[in-house]
Amino acid sequence: MSSETAGNSPEESSPEDAGQLQATAAAVAGTGTSEQWLARYSNSLMGVFGSPQRVLVRGAGAVVWDADGKEYLDLLGGIAVNALGHAHPFVTSVIASQLATLGHVSNFFTSPTQIALAEKLLELSGAPAGSKVFFANSGTEANEAAFKLARAHGKANPSPDGRARSTILALEGAFHGRTMGALALTAKQAYREPFEPMPGGVRHIAFNDIDALRDALDGTVAALVIEPVQGEAGVRPLSAEYLVAARELTTQAGALLIVDEVQTGVGRTGDWFAGIAAGIQPDAMTLAKGLGGGFPIGALITFGRGPSSLLSAGQHGTTFGGNPVATAAALATLHVLEAQDILANVRAVSRIFAEGLATIDAVTAVRAHGLLIGFDLARPVAAGVVAAALDAGFIVNAPRPSTIRLAPPLNLTAEQAASFLAALPGLIQTAVAAQPTEGASS
Ligand SMILES: *Cc1c(COP(=O)(O)O)cnc(C)c1O
Repeated sequence: MSSETAGNSPEESSPEDAGQLQATAAAVAGTGTSEQWLARYSNSLMGVFGSPQRVLVRGAGAVVWDADGKEYLDLLGGIAVNALGHAHPFVTSVIASQLATLGHVSNFFTSPTQIALAEKLLELSGAPAGSKVFFANSGTEANEAAFKLARAHGKANPSPDGRARSTILALEGAFHGRTMGALALTAKQAYREPFEPMPGGVRHIAFNDIDALRDALDGTVAALVIEPVQGEAGVRPLSAEYLVAARELTTQAGALLIVDEVQTGVGRTGDWFAGIAAGIQPDAMTLAKGLGGGFPIGALITFGRGPSSLLSAGQHGTTFGGNPVATAAALATLHVLEAQDILANVRAVSRIFAEGLATIDAVTAVRAHGLLIGFDLARPVAAGVVAAALDAGFIVNAPRPSTIRLAPPLNLTAEQAASFLAALPGLIQTAVAAQPTEGASS
């Protein structure tokens, strides 16, 4: 081999070497029992997530298996990410073929999947002429872009009385991500305090309170950021009246309305986008979780020419965002959601959950927004229910001490939903029995 081709020729590695490598994850990661993996985890992974509940090795549809071969029905879907479940054959093959064709180019270049996905998102969101898309890799990054959009709007549109338009309003209970800008928008003190000072200008106002919003919207406000349904706060919806008022009042005040649909978007609630389904067109919308069907991607959509021209060349960027593989994954996911009318399934299975949960005595409230479902328990035993569910082969989540959240694959079947509903009373009983003294001292 000549030196000119060394390092970039397909002939560089010998066919024998390649033949000896099995192209599987186990070949590069190795194998082990759950116990062995968890010991290695605690010695090598930063402790920010606490101790993982299980070591998962394989998935198919709404089912996953752990390293010991135990099977689970995944009713959390990677927190509203695995829109079509695990290892969806169409999504998987589109990703593999895109990666085998062209995996990454910098944003000095573009690719057909990036352009086609931007067009598709503008079509699905009913965005007017002049609307635009920016691709990121996650929800928090999409919200960072939205944060900068709000700042740019504030600079371009000073308050009529000459004050800086530098305030960004967010809501109590909000979750917008963990990077500094998105964290400043996030309400939870425990997430914020260790990392103060936060980026300035963010104010949190009362949830779902139109009067509080009206009072807060003075000439210094650049943007209001809201989630149509607060997922991390226990699946807590804004009322339709609030959404409409938020649109009207921000327009009157000259502030942007930014809707964070990272969790609620892309069919999760039974509509493509919860805010748009409620009849409001935001100035900007952020997406991530379900968009790539399990592959990391985020997006900021700006509606109309004004918001879409706020960030100009050189003012924002990303290396990975909008890469060919991530955008192919999202196109494949949207294609299946549309071609198989999965949103109709979301609405049908949501009703099964809502009706089934309502018949369970220990469940005191049900908030079913498509397949983003929160339900409250009579006692604060949600963590115990999560543990009992895992033992029984179900993955669910406890965002609050008395609240269980479900965010399963959007193609979950009625039978799969029914199997959980049948097991749930027993799971709650197990959790209550494990905490016999709860309530006695408080
Ligand atoms: C999950 C979430 C985020 C953050 O997304 P990451 O991909 O974890 O950064 C932001 N906003 C909402 C509403 C979310 O649910």
